[in-house]
Amino acid sequence: MFSEEAFRRASISDAKCHKWLDVINIIWLNVPVCILIGTFFFLIWVHLLHKPDPELIPGYEGACFIIPISVLIEIIAEPAFIFGRLNNFIKLRIVIEGFSMLIKCILIAFFVAIQPVNAVSIFAYSQLTSSLIYTLLYYFYFFVYFKNENSKSSKSFKETFIPRFTTMRFNSAQLLLVWSFFKQTVVKQILTEGEKFVMTFFNPLSFAEQGVYDIINNLSSLPARFMFQPIEESSYHLFSQLINRNKAAKEQNETDLKTATDILNLLLKVMISFGSIIIVFGYRFSNLALLIYGGKSLATELGVLLMRCQCFYIFVIAINGVTESFTFAAMGNEEINNFNKKMIRLSLLFLLSAYIFTSFFGSVGFILANCLNMLGRILESLFFINKYYSNVNINSPINSQIVPNIWVLSSLFTSFCALSFSESTTAAVVLLALLAVHRSIGFQSWRKSARSQRRASHLFFEHQTMSTKAVAVLKGDAGVTGTVHFKQTGDGPVTVTGEIHGLKPGQHGFHVHEFGDNTNGCTSAGAHFNPYGKEHGAPEDENRHVGDLGNVVADSNGVAKVEITDKHISLQGSLSIVGRSVVVHEDPDDLGRGGHELSKTTGNAGGRLACGVVGVAK
Ligand SMILES: [Zn+2]
Repeated sequence: MFSEEAFRRASISDAKCHKWLDVINIIWLNVPVCILIGTFFFLIWVHLLHKPDPELIPGYEGACFIIPISVLIEIIAEPAFIFGRLNNFIKLRIVIEGFSMLIKCILIAFFVAIQPVNAVSIFAYSQLTSSLIYTLLYYFYFFVYFKNENSKSSKSFKETFIPRFTTMRFNSAQLLLVWSFFKQTVVKQILTEGEKFVMTFFNPLSFAEQGVYDIINNLSSLPARFMFQPIEESSYHLFSQLINRNKAAKEQNETDLKTATDILNLLLKVMISFGSIIIVFGYRFSNLALLIYGGKSLATELGVLLMRCQCFYIFVIAINGVTESFTFAAMGNEEINNFNKKMIRLSLLFLLSAYIFTSFFGSVGFILANCLNMLGRILESLFFINKYYSNVNINSPINSQIVPNIWVLSSLFTSFCALSFSESTTAAVVLLALLAVHRSIGFQSWRKSARSQRRASHLFFEHQTMSTKAVAVLKGDAGVTGTVHFKQTGDGPVTVTGEIHGLKPGQHGFHVHEFGDNTNGCTSAGAHFNPYGKEHGAPEDENRHVGDLGNVVADSNGVAKVEITDKHISLQGSLSIVGRSVVVHEDPDDLGRGGHELSKTTGNAGGRLACGVVGVAK
């Protein structure tokens, strides 16, 4: 858990610019890192922290061993997870995570009912089972997927997920990024989990208080886990596609940056409105929620107070998630390191404030310290965002528009008052209040928000379906010339169109070669573009070079019209042909079937008549 986020962030951040092969190796690095960290924590748990009485809580040491193992098992699913993430298998993730979580809950509920004494071991083994299911499901899905999709994608299951230890390619820039994010996750973990450190080391709370606090903390972390985290993750995903972290704001693509700005602005607005609703309703219904969830023993004065404070905390978490997803997508390596240093200072401050606050306010002090700490992080992000936008002509996304409009605010206020007065007719008032909020959002701000939402989704859609274009101008010593255009929409197939003149009538091999290097004429373009190390083949073959586009046919005037649609080449990502060369050959490509010694490498297509580098086009 410690390391996976760092790897995820770094590999998602700009996987499109890197070869999947680089990414896959880095993702697998997760495993050794996880083993190291797991061992470290196992030793701490077993040797440093004081153990619970084995008579009362049996199976503690076993659990300390099983939990890291199950984490490791989940880490093994990371390559599949990230692959799914990059290729937008959104439902897959929800189904698998939901299913394994469900299994875990059922197992825990069932066995704890039978043998309540062994709760710790049951928890550990259920976790292990659910992790196994999680990982197996992921790989099983992709195994079946690659089997069925063989015709469409040139990659196989093996090639996609098995690291290349033989070549050992690591991209150093990306490794640095992983390292920065890793340090950050550790700091973040200390920040968010800091209260547990304070609890275990200073013990300022009684056990009963600690128990109530724990339950409420878990209860209110549900919205964070199930609602804010997905929003945070996908907005980070989106921001990092729109913003290049290695460039300053004014060097960014202006439309992309504007899109990112609009989305950040909209997300902030939604989160603020939503958080206000949680505060208003949470304040009123904390009592009821606790009664339903834990009965009278939980719905104490302390419980309710904690729950109410926790609603404020949820509000700040929601905001922080959005601001940080932008900051982390926009920050360069150096800035992330600086941010980390500030977070360390904040975390020390947090531990101190948690200690002081709890000695004054009891467990409420923890939440106060948490809120303060989150506010610190939000301020830090806002500071960064303002600086980021300081020398561009785009308005900063932090403006008055993010404040919910007057109708939402006033209806929230009305509901709050109404709720505070009527104890007995709660249900009726809830309905009225909900209606009021709904009405005001529905009618007064409908047009405005609908417009901005439509705009954002339009921008998002446009980004997803954006066409990429490229062009190559072919020249050579033999008097052959031509222009070839490439076009791709989203991740779809690439259409290749154009004309080549000056050929002798008949078939001519037409390929993408590895290098965009013309220093030594067409010779320096290298061999056929072949990232998977396959044999030469026909365009429709599974076993072919990515660059194998078959033949073009010249008419009696020596003109070949190129019209090819190909699913193997791409204009982006690891299979991008931009920056490589297209070559038209003297002879026909035998598509690997000629039986010549060169058939399986070049199709025996003879000399290189003309070539051109594929470049980005408008
Ligand atoms: Zn080939």
